[in-house]
Amino acid sequence: MSGTQEQGQGQVQSSLFPTYARYPISLVKGQGSYLWDDQGNKYLDFMSGLAVTGLGHAPQQVKEKLVAQLDELWHVSNLFQIPNQEKAAALLTANTCADAVFFCNSGAEANEAAIKLARRYHQKVLNSGRYEIITFNQSFHGRTLATLTATGQDKVKEGFAPLPAGFKHVPLHDVEALEAAITNQTCAIMIEMVQAEGGVIPVEPAFVQHIAKLCKEHNLLLIIDEIQTGMGRTGKLFAYEHYGIEPDIFTVAKALASGFPVGAMLGKGYLREAFTAGSHGSTFGGTPIATAAVIATVETIVGGRLWERAAEMGDYLMEQLQEKLDGNTYVRAIRGKGLIIGIECIEPVAGVIAEAQQKGLLTVSAGPNVLRLLPNLLVTKEEIDTAVSMINELFTAKAAVTQ
Ligand SMILES: *Cc1c(COP(=O)(O)O)cnc(C)c1O
Repeated sequence: MSGTQEQGQGQVQSSLFPTYARYPISLVKGQGSYLWDDQGNKYLDFMSGLAVTGLGHAPQQVKEKLVAQLDELWHVSNLFQIPNQEKAAALLTANTCADAVFFCNSGAEANEAAIKLARRYHQKVLNSGRYEIITFNQSFHGRTLATLTATGQDKVKEGFAPLPAGFKHVPLHDVEALEAAITNQTCAIMIEMVQAEGGVIPVEPAFVQHIAKLCKEHNLLLIIDEIQTGMGRTGKLFAYEHYGIEPDIFTVAKALASGFPVGAMLGKGYLREAFTAGSHGSTFGGTPIATAAVIATVETIVGGRLWERAAEMGDYLMEQLQEKLDGNTYVRAIRGKGLIIGIECIEPVAGVIAEAQQKGLLTVSAGPNVLRLLPNLLVTKEEIDTAVSMINELFTAKAAVTQ
């Protein structure tokens, strides 16, 4: 069949696989914190394309670098030196605990690389033969076969059996279960510092520190998934910095290149030995264009110390929400870190999200009952006030009808 197909009742069926439950809105333009649809309606964007447009839409510095690079060179194979890739990696290692970077094209691929590196380090460098990775219930690590297996939520696994072996899940904050799960086959523990898709659940510092200690004791690699929390969002460049620990490996994607699709897996220098020539690769990983977008994004965030801004604006957003929603019976809890904030409600929030869209505010859920706010790092107090006032109006109405 070619073209769109007419269905019964004259409904036109899309030529796309229906993998997404899409809203009936076509966004056609974005600038800063705002988006416009094809009807000319304007929206205040408090979801940032799912934590991707961290510098807002079409940020000038990134756009300039991209346009300049488009004039020079788009793609060369990783069989050649790629100066932009070297520079992007050097910028990332200069500003983090990592010494080496592998570029890919998405979060799931970054986690795949982390999983492969952890296994290969144990199997080829330490010769321990270990392969098992422990992750946590409610975590989210991606949609490839290995990363959906790593993910601690059954809904992403249904119908995809058989799943790869070598993953174990334990409840978050359960020290006993974690210790019991470690065997002589375990090679790594993988965790998000704020479980994002799982409901915006910040991990308790004592638990993170205990994990780091267990990793040292048992010679396990600590892998931190910073795909959603990284690039300044939580009030540090990377969320692990809040905890006084250093991961062996961490993964980045979403906001890494301001909307250009780039992922990266970063690790300590001793892991270089495990990722020797030919052990891993990606055709598109770290092209001149992709890494131009990374350079511009990292330079903008580091140059402006934008994580500090995220911390300040995150505090303001949290205070405003707590003040305005105080005593609201529709709200069960408000939590988060920096500019990732979840409002847990007494029922599914799908309706609230649709109503917010009609008022001109874009948000997203994190699990059924949590409304997740992910404004860009340059969001203003005025924009926060506007969003909070819309949320307050919606939740006040909800509280009235659910009493
Ligand atoms: C989004 C996300 C991923 C997957 O990233 P993709 O680019 O969609 O493959 C993995 N881990 C976390 C924490 C995420 O938020």
